[in-house]
Amino acid sequence: MDEQYDVIVVGAGFGGAACAALLARHGLKTLLLDKNDRPGGKALTMSRAGFSYELWPVAGGPSLNSQFAAVLREIDAEDEVALLTPDPAGVLLYRGASGGYEPLVVSALPQQPNDVANMARWLQLAPADLQELARLFGDMTSMALKDIEALDELAFSEFLSRYRLPRSVYSYFGMWSNILFVVPIDLLAASEAIKTFRDFMAGGAMRYSSGGYGRVAEVLARAVERYGGQVRMGTAVERIAVGNGAVSGVITQTGSFGAPIVVSNAGIQPTVLNLVGEEHFDKGYANHVKGLLPSWALVGIRYFLSRPVFQYAVNIAFSDDSYWDTKRFLRIRAGELPDEAIVFIVVPSLYDPSLAPEGKQCALAATLCSPDPEASDAEVWWNKLDEMVDRLWPDLRPHVEREERYSAAQVSSLARDHVLPGQGGECIGLAQIVGQCGRHKPSARAPILGLYYVGCDAGGYGCGTHQAVDSGAAVARLVLGDHRARQAAF
Ligand SMILES: Cc1cc2nc3c(=O)[nH]c(=O)nc-3n(C[C@H](O)[C@H](O)[C@H](O)COP(=O)(O)OP(=O)(O)OC[C@H]3O[C@@H](n4cnc5c(N)ncnc54)[C@H](O)[C@@H]3O)c2cc1C
Repeated sequence: MDEQYDVIVVGAGFGGAACAALLARHGLKTLLLDKNDRPGGKALTMSRAGFSYELWPVAGGPSLNSQFAAVLREIDAEDEVALLTPDPAGVLLYRGASGGYEPLVVSALPQQPNDVANMARWLQLAPADLQELARLFGDMTSMALKDIEALDELAFSEFLSRYRLPRSVYSYFGMWSNILFVVPIDLLAASEAIKTFRDFMAGGAMRYSSGGYGRVAEVLARAVERYGGQVRMGTAVERIAVGNGAVSGVITQTGSFGAPIVVSNAGIQPTVLNLVGEEHFDKGYANHVKGLLPSWALVGIRYFLSRPVFQYAVNIAFSDDSYWDTKRFLRIRAGELPDEAIVFIVVPSLYDPSLAPEGKQCALAATLCSPDPEASDAEVWWNKLDEMVDRLWPDLRPHVEREERYSAAQVSSLARDHVLPGQGGECIGLAQIVGQCGRHKPSARAPILGLYYVGCDAGGYGCGTHQAVDSGAAVARLVLGDHRARQAAF
């Protein structure tokens, strides 16, 4: 081994970068490696032709009291990036009984007293429906943590069926499950949904960062170096070295690096099946890992616009027909295409004007798709998305200077290796569904001495990047404890 470290973190996604920054901050000699040229993984920010943007729509939640803020505080980097929480931040568009899409303008800050009444008007609720909605919101926000955790095995749709909710409210939560967790409402674990709902009610959602969403990951990676660690971007790890049931380091194209602890942000399945090798694990564990299900994915278009078309930074359009549950997904997979699709658009320069040339906008649009990087239906969804965008923003088309299209294949090549059929392009990581959440989530401590997982597959909860950073903080605590115990023991 060329150089020896206390810990090597493979991958500078939000989970890996947060974990590495905290480990370096607490005195461990840390090496952070990533195959990409910049940190941030699936939510990295890139710059081109005067625009800075993520490769697809990204906005975070909760806005306040987030793990983002907590980790930045712990590594003394609060001044290096601002967490942006504009009011208003976004618009939700719902196609109700009138047949047209009706807007609800929302803030990135926590719920205001009249927000539920506004929502009730927007969703066209009768007074009895409003009472039931208030009962649901009240229950979800006041439940004791142990009661929430008891719902690991209950699907969110089953939990909602305890209330007499009108169709529009159910559709809202169908969209919410698709956009936040990228899974169907009838598989999303109620425990995960309720915890996140509470965080959003208390702290708001649609947070972004000055300089681009990925800036936080860049700050985290810089902190590793500030605390005496090393960062090597553009360095793909080919193997995690294991001998006698313990890790000893990593092997890359440019050299090998030694450490008794390796934390992998590459995803549990690529780590076990590719980087370490199935032969090093108990057969039962390897089979369990193979059976874990990924979240769905998003497919979409980046529109570069010659003049401002969008008024709000976040734009989400849905109807009773456009959110996906398991039944709809299976129908679509069988070739039955829906008329309507969910649309999710983020315009970074409406958060931070420095992210686009003056007078221009970059709009990152997405709709749902399967996580299979080899799927051949991307064209179908790009066309559907174009059709929906033209319907909802009829003045957009003449101002499109350039269009870039992406699919699950690009997500996979950027962030997560395709090691199993149908896996690799997932939006989040492991799906936050019944059987894979709470106490059923894989342990962040792998069954090989010194090997840990960090990111959206283990150790955290919440929505997308927030789950990754939550995991980064939790896994850093776990590793620190194990490191100190081993030092004391030997
Ligand atoms: C289209 C899309 C839209 C999204 N929208 C949102 C949103 O609005 N809000 C939100 O919060 N989240 C969103 N997400 C989800 C969010 O981006 C992810 O859940 C989160 O970024 C995952 O972080 P992570 O740390 O688990 O890993 P990843 O981001 O997957 O990072 C893994 C890192 O490991 C590196 N790596 C992998 N293998 C190797 C190797 N062999 N050697 C070296 N490096 C390696 C990769 O290069 C990557 O940098 C979106 C995702 C997608 C794809």
